[in-house]
Amino acid sequence: MNIATLLYEAAARSPGAPAVCEGDSVLRDYRELAERARAVGDALVHRHGARPGDRIALAMRNTPHYWEILFGAWWAGLVVTPMNARLHPEEFAALIEDCAARVCVATDDLTGPLAAQGLGATALTGAAELVETAGRAGIRPPAPAAPGDPAWLFYTSGTTGRPKGATLTHGNLRAATDSALADLGSGVDASLLHIAPLSHAGGLFGLAFVARSRAQVFPRDGVVDAVTLGEGLRAFGPTSFFAVPTILRRLLDPALLPDEAAGHVHRILYGGAPMYAEDLKKVIARFGPERLWQGYGQGESPGTITHLRPEDHRGEDPVALGRRLESVGRARTGVEVRVVDESGREVPAGTVGEVTVSGATVMAGYWNDPEATARALRGGRLHTGDLGRLDADGLLTLVDRAKDLIISGGSNIYPREVEEVLLRHASVAEAAVVGAADPEWGELPVAFVVLRDGDGAREGRGKRAEELERHCLAHMARYKRPRQFRFVPALPKNSYGKVLKTELRGLVGQSPPDRTG
Ligand code: AMP
Repeated sequence: MNIATLLYEAAARSPGAPAVCEGDSVLRDYRELAERARAVGDALVHRHGARPGDRIALAMRNTPHYWEILFGAWWAGLVVTPMNARLHPEEFAALIEDCAARVCVATDDLTGPLAAQGLGATALTGAAELVETAGRAGIRPPAPAAPGDPAWLFYTSGTTGRPKGATLTHGNLRAATDSALADLGSGVDASLLHIAPLSHAGGLFGLAFVARSRAQVFPRDGVVDAVTLGEGLRAFGPTSFFAVPTILRRLLDPALLPDEAAGHVHRILYGGAPMYAEDLKKVIARFGPERLWQGYGQGESPGTITHLRPEDHRGEDPVALGRRLESVGRARTGVEVRVVDESGREVPAGTVGEVTVSGATVMAGYWNDPEATARALRGGRLHTGDLGRLDADGLLTLVDRAKDLIISGGSNIYPREVEEVLLRHASVAEAAVVGAADPEWGELPVAFVVLRDGDGAREGRGKRAEELERHCLAHMARYKRPRQFRFVPALPKNSYGKVLKTELRGLVGQSPPDRTG
């Protein structure tokens, strides 16, 4: 079943229900959203020559057009590659090249930089222009798609630094949606306010809300402040939203989310990065346990591994409650979680090992990367790279994650990518990047750098740091740049010559075990 059928059915069931809204205005009802999505699909096929299975890359900030384009591509049997809008043009180009996209659809702010970058054989088109010129077309069922046909390439870079597209099929997205419908309970009986990028969990969760013909609400003009949040939460009845821990922490501040507006929050879906226990206590105190739901997932099993339900956020017994709040909850509907040792054998309850997953949500593999696929799916199970322990009662607690990944404000930063860019600078001999604990962002990248001209560099270190920062900004998304450069005479290494990142983390004060997820 084509995943666009979710929209086709919603339009048949509730044609007049608000589908896409901005601020307090309804932009599209479900009939119009479906008509426009079909027309966008037709335009991609007839104007751009896209054929079923072709990739359509999306370089889009959150705009109300996102849904028309996402569903439009699926409607015509095409595969979407949603990309984080904060990427550098070079990074966009690498993903577009990897998936050999036929078309890249970009929001107006990104068309200029992408055109200047050059995208080879990939056609570039503006999102608003595509939707406006496509117009509306009578509703017709979406193109046929088998459950195993690719629908969404979810890019992650992994520790090798090479971008890897987790290939999510129509069947995977359907399974993730069904799991969300089963596990979010009344959380989906609400509108969904988009304050997180649709290219990640925000978009994935949105599918369950389409399945219930609920409104997708965008803050006015894409601005997230006290006025637009209040408006977005009030305008369309009970409203849920997804937020990563960094944003959720900011929403504790009444200057950003005034009490009156907070009263309109129906359910907060949070996750995507570890949530610290102290922060979670404050979040519970402000919003109440019954309005909170945590999800643990990854692109490879889209947003769907375990969850901590609203009722798990409260309890009489402080010890049991503390244990739950430190965990990421229990397996999601349709997902089987096992913790295994290095040889793939299940470890006893309470023992730390790698979290593995099986179920209909698990990706088909990485796009054009059979080796990485075989590694990630060995023994028929998804190896998440996260370390955790599963207790006898099914609670999963993450103790650390794939060693080196840095998660800053919910966004993954792969040290290797940053190191590769640093090494492209003529004065850098060696570089190693690790995460330093940060109360606001969770972690921030710190670079250890060995300079070619040795420790006694002629210019001041401050000047060198500024130069390296400029170099990073010229080649990578801003959020990935190291916030600190430490110049060292040599990097600590083991006898195989591998850099000992654990030692470096010790130097910057990273303390993994006290996190709750
Ligand atoms: P991504 O594929 O970009 O969604 O990143 C997935 C990774 O983020 C997971 O493998 C975890 O390491 C981390 N992650 C996601 N959700 C949570 C959570 N609720 N608690 C702790 N870590 C999380």
